[in-house]
Amino acid sequence: PLSITDPIEEHRICVCVRKRPLNKQELLKKECDVITVPSKCVLLVHEPKQKVDLTKYLDTQAFRFDFSFDELASNEMVYRFTARPLVQTIFEGGKATCFAYGQTGSGKTHTMGGDFSGRAQNASKGIYAFASQDVFLLLNQPRYRSQDLEVYVTFFEIYNGKVFDLLNKKAKLRVLEDGKQQVQVVGLQERQVSCAEDVIRMIEMGSACRTSGQTFANASSSRSHACFQIILRRRGKLLGKFSLVDLAGNERGADTSSADRQTRMEGAEINKSLLALKECIRALGQNKSHTPFRESKLTQVLRDSFIGVNSRTCMIAMISPGMSSCEYTLNTLRYADRVK
Ligand code: ADP
Ligand code: MG
Repeated sequence: PLSITDPIEEHRICVCVRKRPLNKQELLKKECDVITVPSKCVLLVHEPKQKVDLTKYLDTQAFRFDFSFDELASNEMVYRFTARPLVQTIFEGGKATCFAYGQTGSGKTHTMGGDFSGRAQNASKGIYAFASQDVFLLLNQPRYRSQDLEVYVTFFEIYNGKVFDLLNKKAKLRVLEDGKQQVQVVGLQERQVSCAEDVIRMIEMGSACRTSGQTFANASSSRSHACFQIILRRRGKLLGKFSLVDLAGNERGADTSSADRQTRMEGAEINKSLLALKECIRALGQNKSHTPFRESKLTQVLRDSFIGVNSRTCMIAMISPGMSSCEYTLNTLRYADRVK
């Protein structure tokens, strides 16, 4: 369990990579695993079975990250090294963000939301649930218990540049920016929660809403960004905010040559938002005064998390281990490599 005496990592930006195991179908097809994690920060992409380093073909020598997780790492393990060090930030009046980036099927939703498709007692927890647990753990420490803190959650989806409320039947919401450059999602439901179990109910509700009501539910969830936020208020006033974002599949950004106009437009939008995100995180890391958050709806909505002295972020790049995903995997690794 989280203790307030745990060391808090100092850096503002943390970039990690997680490899998922080969799944049943891939094993049946005798798909080769081309990813090896030789040490806690290094990841190798290599030829099947030979473990020859293919990174010599890239413009970087090797991929180094703050942490690399192999296929044996649990969600809890990934959480401990990524989002957990950011929990305290929101108690100190800061903004924290954690992004899951990667190809569709690489494990973004598994890592962030966990798997609630089975019976409740068998459901595996993801980062949303672990972070919520630790928020309540901290909240009940003597140091914070006396502070009249209240916890709220929101859960929304950004699809093709539009915002939909996952805690309110996918109601379409407007985003407004006032004269003081404050960004507001008008009408977004903020649900007050008083324990971790309350939060899990919200996660289940929002996750079900995300994949419901559409003929091509899976296709559309891979084309949308889902954002789950834990908001801390002190006597009604905003104290801190933790945004946990399950990004659209990055391969969708390449749909710009599709024959279908709608698909092309969605692809362009995804591409734009992922590029804007990279630039905003880089700006945060380099303490730049200009943050290009207006370039996309995603970065606009998260504006207040990219500015301010007490903002911290973590990106988890998810990768599939198979040879057939190699090209997308390299794209994911290059993107993650440039965020920092
Ligand atoms: P994405 O959200 O990136 O499209 P998912 O999270 O839906 O991908 O993962 C695709 C499938 O792989 C799911 O069935 C999921 O349960 C499984 N999976 C993903 N990551 C892991 C992992 N680390 N261990 C076991 N199964 C995983
Ligand atoms: Mg997903």
